[in-house]
Amino acid sequence: MESEDKLKDSLKRERKAKQAAKQGLEEAVAAKTAELRRTALRISNVISNMQEGVLVEDENRRIALVNPGFCTMFGIPVAAELLIGTDCSGSAEQAKHLFADPEGFVEGINQLLAKREKTTGEILLLKDGRSFSRDYVPILIEGSYRGHFWKYSDITSQRKYEDALVRSEEKYRLLIENMNLGLLEVDMEGRIKYANQSFCVMSGFTREEMYGQVGEELFTTPENRHVIVKKNRSREKGISDAYELEVTNKQGHKKWWLISGAPLFNHEGKQIGSTGIHLDITERKQLEFTLREAKQMAEDTAKAKEVFLANMSHEIRTPMNAILGLGKQLVKTELNTHQRSFLESINTAADNLLVVINDILDFSKIESGKLDLEAIGFSLPDLIGQISNMLKSKAEEKGLTFKLEVDEQIAPVLIGDPFRINQVLLNLLSNSIKFTEKGSIRLVCRVNESNAKEQTIELVVEDTGMGIDKKYLKKIFQKFSQESVNVARKYGGTGLGMAITKQLVDIMDGKITIESRKDEGTRVTIGISLPIGQSSEKPEKPKHLIRNQKLKGKKILLVEDNKLNRLVANSILSSFGLKVTEAVNGEIAVEKLRNEMFDLVLMDMQMPVMDGITATVMIRKEINTTIPIIALTANALKSEKSRCLEAGMNDFISKPFEEERLLDILQRFIR
Ligand code: ADP
Repeated sequence: MESEDKLKDSLKRERKAKQAAKQGLEEAVAAKTAELRRTALRISNVISNMQEGVLVEDENRRIALVNPGFCTMFGIPVAAELLIGTDCSGSAEQAKHLFADPEGFVEGINQLLAKREKTTGEILLLKDGRSFSRDYVPILIEGSYRGHFWKYSDITSQRKYEDALVRSEEKYRLLIENMNLGLLEVDMEGRIKYANQSFCVMSGFTREEMYGQVGEELFTTPENRHVIVKKNRSREKGISDAYELEVTNKQGHKKWWLISGAPLFNHEGKQIGSTGIHLDITERKQLEFTLREAKQMAEDTAKAKEVFLANMSHEIRTPMNAILGLGKQLVKTELNTHQRSFLESINTAADNLLVVINDILDFSKIESGKLDLEAIGFSLPDLIGQISNMLKSKAEEKGLTFKLEVDEQIAPVLIGDPFRINQVLLNLLSNSIKFTEKGSIRLVCRVNESNAKEQTIELVVEDTGMGIDKKYLKKIFQKFSQESVNVARKYGGTGLGMAITKQLVDIMDGKITIESRKDEGTRVTIGISLPIGQSSEKPEKPKHLIRNQKLKGKKILLVEDNKLNRLVANSILSSFGLKVTEAVNGEIAVEKLRNEMFDLVLMDMQMPVMDGITATVMIRKEINTTIPIIALTANALKSEKSRCLEAGMNDFISKPFEEERLLDILQRFIR
């Protein structure tokens, strides 16, 4: 009994324990199931929200899972969850119309299903232009096939971007290949890594011949190889620049390239070489050389012209100097009436000849841009007064009335070149007198505009002469032109006067107009603006009498090879009471200066044995730095004058010199 009870107890305990265990197990299973459900929910949630289309089929091709992305991509108008359990075996056939290659699509699916191998990244093109990428994954659980997983991604925009990139790359590649510029890439050792088609054409080498070769060894001449070496060094410092280089192509022809070079970096910013864009500038260079040669030739010609002019001027002026100088001295001697009349004619002819020579020289100087204008203070009314004094009697000799009008408003001092204004007015008035047989000549000088700083002056020369034909009037300012052969025969002249006048007015920034009527008369009007000056800006007037006294007994060394010129100069100088010592060349002059004191040297420029410049340089260096040395130059050119001053001379006098000018110079330099 007792044992029966014990058994019952133990059975009861056992049952209880079993019940407890069962309950525990059930609870654990329930917990696990809940956990699994949550995980499945999470996964299906994630899949539902994926952009990509996901489809899971079971081993019987029934849909186990599909997301809304899939429905959207394939245009299925049903909620995804309603598709669960649907048979998929006909779905490829149903969807194939969407694809660019419908049969290929069906075939592809069948193959995947047959092979049951994981396949990813297959590209499918759709009829509407979209592109899908497809993954297929078979599901194997413990070695047995349990269905499969499809994933479709819409890669249309990505493909479009990639296509654009490829097209753009292709575009630039073609551009680089075919552009007229040669492109070359070299590594850090200068070895050629890339050359475009144009560079191959430019250099004459094929890519195969160039790749791996050092650029400068292929193209540059040994003389300019250093240029490339230098450029490579500056590329290493990150410097880009452009330069021109003479090279030799494969055929051995010399070429010029304009190269724009820059360092080349990899994506990490490390320099891996350099690139150069090459332009063939051989033709331009040749043109440049031709131009340079032409310029040189033009300069040489201009120089030759200048030298010719200087020589001609020397040759003409030297005898002219003698004729004029001696003629003027001869007038001072005792002569009978006959002789005096002949001599006066000779002097007048010589004066006229000098005018012609000066015109020609002036013109050449103006044409070669070698005419310098003075800018000094002068009195315009005084100048006009002197000119009219000079020409009034000439006009009256011809029975013409000379009328002069000078505006009182003209400033007492204007700044300009009185000599050239004088020359212009003399030209115009001489023409008027020359070409007028009866009536009058009028010279008007008036102020047109005036302010505190400058005055615009109008100068009018008017006559009642033969006038000028309309046709000729148009070309009156052309050099060497005259209205007709008859005019030339009757009145002479060179036809240069008006051309020079026009040029002079032009370089004074003035205006000149001419009006004329045949048989009625001619009017020339000139307008020039001149700054207003102070009386202190006027050069001092030479004071003859005092000066003559001052010069008496002073010692002059006259250096001149031409006998006639020495005679003229000596006679003028002696007439002022100066003591003259003569030297026939620079060497003798230097010798004399070593042994004797002089107050002033008059030095010719062109002499045999030793010329004036050499002698002057020697005197300044070895003997005397202060003695005034005045150049006697037959050469009217500006360059000659500056040569004198550079050599250490103090001033210059052009031959044939006038007594006035010589006196003025002596007065200024003799202390
Ligand atoms: P030239 O007087 O030495 O011949 P110009 O250049 O001074 O040279 O003048 C050129 C020509 O213009 C003259 O030959 C003449 O035919 C004409 N001419 C110039 N001035 C006048 C004038 N005042 N009246 C008529 N003809 C003139």
